[in-house]
Amino acid sequence: MNSYDVAVIGSGPGGYVAAIRCAQLGLKTAIIEKYATLGGTCLNVGCIPSKALLDSSHHYDDAIKHFEEHGIEIPGEVKINLEKMIARKQSVVDQTTGGIDFLMKKNNIDVYQGLGVFKDATHITINGEETQEIEAKNTIIATGSKPGNLPFIDIDKERIITSTEALKLKEVPKHLIVIGGGVIGLELGQVYKRLGAEVSVIEYMDRIVPTMDKGVSKELNKVLKKQKFKINASHKVTSVTRNGDEVVVTATNKKGEEVQFKGDYCLVSVGRRPYTDGLNAEAAGVKINDRGQIEVNAHLQTSASNIYAIGDVVKGAMLAHKAEEEGVFAAETIAGQKPHIDYNLIPGVVYTWPEVAAVGKTEEQLKEAGIAYKAGQFPMRALGRSRASMDIDGFVKILADKTTDEILGVHMVGARAADMIAEAVVAMEYRASAEDVSRMSHAHPTYTEAIKEAALAATEDRALHI
Ligand code: FAD
Ligand code: NAD
Repeated sequence: MNSYDVAVIGSGPGGYVAAIRCAQLGLKTAIIEKYATLGGTCLNVGCIPSKALLDSSHHYDDAIKHFEEHGIEIPGEVKINLEKMIARKQSVVDQTTGGIDFLMKKNNIDVYQGLGVFKDATHITINGEETQEIEAKNTIIATGSKPGNLPFIDIDKERIITSTEALKLKEVPKHLIVIGGGVIGLELGQVYKRLGAEVSVIEYMDRIVPTMDKGVSKELNKVLKKQKFKINASHKVTSVTRNGDEVVVTATNKKGEEVQFKGDYCLVSVGRRPYTDGLNAEAAGVKINDRGQIEVNAHLQTSASNIYAIGDVVKGAMLAHKAEEEGVFAAETIAGQKPHIDYNLIPGVVYTWPEVAAVGKTEEQLKEAGIAYKAGQFPMRALGRSRASMDIDGFVKILADKTTDEILGVHMVGARAADMIAEAVVAMEYRASAEDVSRMSHAHPTYTEAIKEAALAATEDRALHI
């Protein structure tokens, strides 16, 4: 029987990064993955394929809507070849997952393909083509998550679908009904909106992306409406039925009236659930809470002291970069180090266009905590860079402590916000004040000038260009 210092179960961004860090620290490491390709949700059916389709559909949208105003004329009709678009997405996925195989080899990590099942706290059975057993002094559980559902919806994976199927449709829906106006619903909704579908979003809460800053939700809502999304907030879905090619979604609106939405596809994107099926965690003494999450302490240690858990399967944001940080944290803890993660500074991004990005506290959270703050906001339309590219929607908002001027939260909607948010993370990691940021030179013309301007607005209400 092969014996390891660390076995990692699951090869998503949490698991494979944990394995690499373990190997870097000189620990003999194995990784177990039930699927034939490494990379987990993120690389196979999550972050990477969704961004590939967002990029392709963005090109198409530009070609049909914006090329002309830039003085670019295309003789003849611009057409979509969906099969080719999906195939390109798949080749991006294949290259990326292939890269993980390379990284495992490079770091001398043994890869086992099959379902990892705990026999006890130090032995794992791997049910693959053959059944194997390994011994591990320590284990990191990184088994991730699966799409969530509402109890009364029968997801048939043909017309009533999850994100996994939405990444490989064979036709552009005529009318895509999206249940859940969160990250997946809006990103994949935008892919098909750009490709020509009518898109209706049905959201239970009173606004889309309800966990983000209210100002951000409002701005995104405005922009998506301009893009002809039909957004129905405060709607409680009560049933989803399929009759042949038609899907009927029934919901109750704010006034208590029953409303029906008829479409040809329905994407269910109401959140994801932690995944521990078949793991036999109890045999190792690992506790799972009533939300299906593996319980961990501040060291990401489970109720079995030699077993750690990270990523989507534990509490916290279901984000690839959060899973990665936790992978490194668990590996370094096992190696005897004392790592640290500041969960307040894990940024969140929605890859619609314009993009949405945020880090730190929202205005609502600051109000609730009774923290006195100042807000400085700067609109993207006032930037030369935005006018040059015609990406004028959105803003940057900086929230700073009223007394100390320390930045407490940064929220933005705008072109390349996903990349710009890194500046806010760095500033907040170093506990910068809004004035610190306002006094730093930002290259001109760039979208990042909006961060400097918002910092000026937050410090002394003295933005320069508005
Ligand atoms: P996962 O990536 O889910 O990996 C878990 C792995 O464990 C899987 O491969 C699974 O097969 C394997 N496994 C499970 N049980 C066993 C077992 N018993 N034995 C062996 N193997 C097992 N996040 C972002 O930060 N940015 C994005 O842009 C983004 N876009 C997304 C788009 C979509 C459509 C979706 C669905 C998700 C997106 N996410 C995004 C979320 C991101 O994918 C997850 O947060 C991330 O993948 C979690 O990583 P993980 O390592 O915890 O688990
Ligand atoms: P989500 O939590 O982002 O959004 C789910 C939405 O569904 C919420 O707005 C919620 O209020 C709504 N909802 C819940 N029950 C409902 C009901 N009965 N009727 C109508 N609406 C309902 O979840 P998601 O979009 O499914 O994404 C799952 C996870 O994947 C998220 O945690 C997210 O962090 C991650 N993800 C991240 C990215 C990214 O970082 N860009 C992209 C995709 C997915």
